[in-house]
Amino acid sequence: QKWVLNFGGGSAEGRADMRNLLGGKGANLAEMSNLGLPVPPGFTITTEVCTWYYDHGETYPDGLKAQVDEGLREIEAKVGEARFGSPELPLLVSVRSGARASMPGMMDTVLNLGLNDETVQGLAKASGDERFAWDSYRRFIQMYSDVVLGVGHEHFEELLEVHKEDLDVTLDTEIEADQWQILVERYKARVQEETGAPFPQDVHDQLWGAIGAVFGSWMNQRAVTYRHLHNIPREWGTAVNVQAMVFGNMGETSCTGVAFTRDPSSGEKQWYGEYLINAQGEDVVAGIRTPQQLTIAAKKLARGNKPAMEESMPELYAELVKVFERLEGHYRDMQDIEFTVQRGKLWLLQTRSGKRTAAAAVRIAVEMVHEGLIGEEEAVGRVDPAALDQLLHPMPDPKAPRKVIATGLAASPGAAAGKVVFEADEAEAMAQKGEKVILCRIETSPEDIHGMHAAKGILTARGGTTSHAAVVARGMGRPCVSGAGSLRIDSKKGQMLAGQTVVQKYDMITIDGSTGEVILGEVPTIEPELTGQFADLMVWADKVRRLKVRTNAETPADAETARKFGAEGIGLCRTEHMFFEADRIALVRQMILAGDKAGREKALAKILPMQRDDFVQLFRIMAGLPVTVRLLDPPLHEFLPKTDQDLASVAYATGMDVDELRQRAMSLHEFNPMLGHRGCRLGITFPEIYEMQARAIFEAAIAVGKELGETVVPEVMIPLVGTKPELEILKRKVEAVAATVAKENGADEIRYLVGTMIELPRAALRAGEIAEAADFFSFGTNDLTQTTFGISRDDAGSFMDAYIRGGILPTDPFVTLDQDGVGELVEIASERGRRTRPDLKLGICGEHGGDPASIAFCEKVGLDYVSCSPYRVPIARLAAAQAAL
Ligand code: ADP
Ligand code: MG
Ligand code: MG
Repeated sequence: QKWVLNFGGGSAEGRADMRNLLGGKGANLAEMSNLGLPVPPGFTITTEVCTWYYDHGETYPDGLKAQVDEGLREIEAKVGEARFGSPELPLLVSVRSGARASMPGMMDTVLNLGLNDETVQGLAKASGDERFAWDSYRRFIQMYSDVVLGVGHEHFEELLEVHKEDLDVTLDTEIEADQWQILVERYKARVQEETGAPFPQDVHDQLWGAIGAVFGSWMNQRAVTYRHLHNIPREWGTAVNVQAMVFGNMGETSCTGVAFTRDPSSGEKQWYGEYLINAQGEDVVAGIRTPQQLTIAAKKLARGNKPAMEESMPELYAELVKVFERLEGHYRDMQDIEFTVQRGKLWLLQTRSGKRTAAAAVRIAVEMVHEGLIGEEEAVGRVDPAALDQLLHPMPDPKAPRKVIATGLAASPGAAAGKVVFEADEAEAMAQKGEKVILCRIETSPEDIHGMHAAKGILTARGGTTSHAAVVARGMGRPCVSGAGSLRIDSKKGQMLAGQTVVQKYDMITIDGSTGEVILGEVPTIEPELTGQFADLMVWADKVRRLKVRTNAETPADAETARKFGAEGIGLCRTEHMFFEADRIALVRQMILAGDKAGREKALAKILPMQRDDFVQLFRIMAGLPVTVRLLDPPLHEFLPKTDQDLASVAYATGMDVDELRQRAMSLHEFNPMLGHRGCRLGITFPEIYEMQARAIFEAAIAVGKELGETVVPEVMIPLVGTKPELEILKRKVEAVAATVAKENGADEIRYLVGTMIELPRAALRAGEIAEAADFFSFGTNDLTQTTFGISRDDAGSFMDAYIRGGILPTDPFVTLDQDGVGELVEIASERGRRTRPDLKLGICGEHGGDPASIAFCEKVGLDYVSCSPYRVPIARLAAAQAAL
């Protein structure tokens, strides 16, 4: 079997579409080689080796060693004279991980491998630059020790600091060859102390050590967390790329950089990137030295004073621009490119589809359609629906007063306010308690991922827009301001200094990742404008999608927001929310606590006009679009008076005795209210409640119908039905009310639908007969998930995390529909329901209605619509379109 594929020197054995086998990095290195671009030669050890490695007790398949040796010989042949391990002219390689999906910062790369006490001399001679050779060696020892031997960076940084103090220099670039050499000895001694063994001198041991470390890192905590957050299965494995080194640290005609073919933050079509002269590899992204801009325009914007590459290396810049055009045209997507210039020669080290903010994703997709690069449907497929969330949320009100205490780089857009915390662990702990926090760090590292995820926003004092914090924040959709250089963060003291202002831990700040501003206190926000490119994309999405998108809304404000976002009706109007309003709750209590039907009816008569008015408003806003109203659902329990004062006010209103009321309230107490006296069971025992609600709905429909000059056809939904008789009985009551209201209004008939929620497993299974009494089903997948799993959503917090971390459940079933179990019930109910009644309308109205993966499932099952919260409507429109593609 072929475990190793070669690339470089104008051709490759792999291709871009082999990313499953070669990982993203390997596949694209192969593709760039095939395009004839200058790629240092190398080979990729396939992801199958990783899988094999973990299936076979962390050992390698037979034949791998020979193939790796062969790969090394291929590299040697392509580079010319250098040989791996040669003391005269050594070939150095990098060992780079590369999974199918890019995992920034997760897996570690080792550069300059092949250096030892002998080969360093050869490198010095061959390059004619002793300083460079020893600088490379010390970098290699540090990187290799950190990644492979487990001797952390801090050891070497400490030794370097002491060394600089001894030499009385501040910059690395001031250190000469002989001084690096002394430091190398100290580095090696430290490795010996820490590991009990000398730093490996055999270059083949070095190579296999690094390969093992890459495979090993697939299972490290950071990688596992990242995979978990991004739903990447562990079976995918990582590939390993071994590639001839090129050197950006060979003096002033050398550099290393990263570039995007469009601005990853705004999406604007302009080359965008950063580079560092006389530097290697990670120097640019690590945020240690502040990099310089690629283009003059960007330099001006950033008010930089160091020359842009366009100025300092105009010919190479022009060559690079040709490569950008070539790669973007070839991949037909925005590329994120890593390059190095070695003594005036350009080399490409990586290309991939660039990570981008949601705003940039939309802009790039739409502009690429206008440029003729991609089609409309392809554009629809390009934007991650979940990421749209970033665009749909409020921004800081430009008119609100704000006290800007620092300005950094606009690294990931959107505004976020929260309490200042300085440690990732604390961010996580506070978020779990429901606090909004902003994680403030000097710079972030992969160890901070969990804290970044928990925070509402991220603020760093150091690092560019390609720094770790910026890249990860954009990927997570968290607003981020990076490189706010004027901040003095002192996490030990629990405070940060912004000029004259002292910000203490837990003080409230607002960051604006679109402008880079850091503002003291919480700034009011305004709604986003959903026009321009966003609107274009939505139009294209709407052309493709089959599923309708409705909203869950009961207030006029929510209904209006949803309409603005393109909702095509209301899929769930929860009437109980209307009952909880301050001026009504007393009447509701009065009704519940009434000793008899007459008492209840008296209270209901007072509620009726209010409820009717609610529906009038909703029907008006929805202007003829379908509106599904769910009759009262929650346990009566939830409305009971909680305090003596509550009781007293009910007593006053009803003239009932307080003690009698207390007795009655106690008798309504339930042990398991969610499985108790709720849903249609209320309708069965207190039919007058549902009758009042039905009347309110029909009267409102008639009134608004007259206003609009068209018939409003409300959809009346009976909750928590488990048996056909429940639905039949209540449906008859609704019909009777409809007939009465029609007569009272001199109308021939009122048009409406009656249906039910499917939220109990029994209802799903008996859907065939229940459909005989139903015009529609709406899957209430929140309750259906609770009742199928027997897990209470409100109490799942204490164990859900352990379940997901332990791999017992792949994701939280209350967020993403459990397609295997709950989903099967949905399928069964749809199928049996439609067999009885082919025109049965089917929809979903749980939280899942706004979750892209769940929406894809709804498309597959053939539901008619999804219904979700107002802010998720555009997400659902796009997800529904993608599901239909
Ligand atoms: P990551 O996946 O974290 O981006 P990479 O494998 O791309 O890691 O390596 C990080 C950096 O190391 C690259 O951006 C590049 O600058 C440098 N690098 C990797 N391989 C080589 C090489 N063969 N020659 C020179 N620099 C290299
Ligand atoms: Mg890295
Ligand atoms: Mg890289």
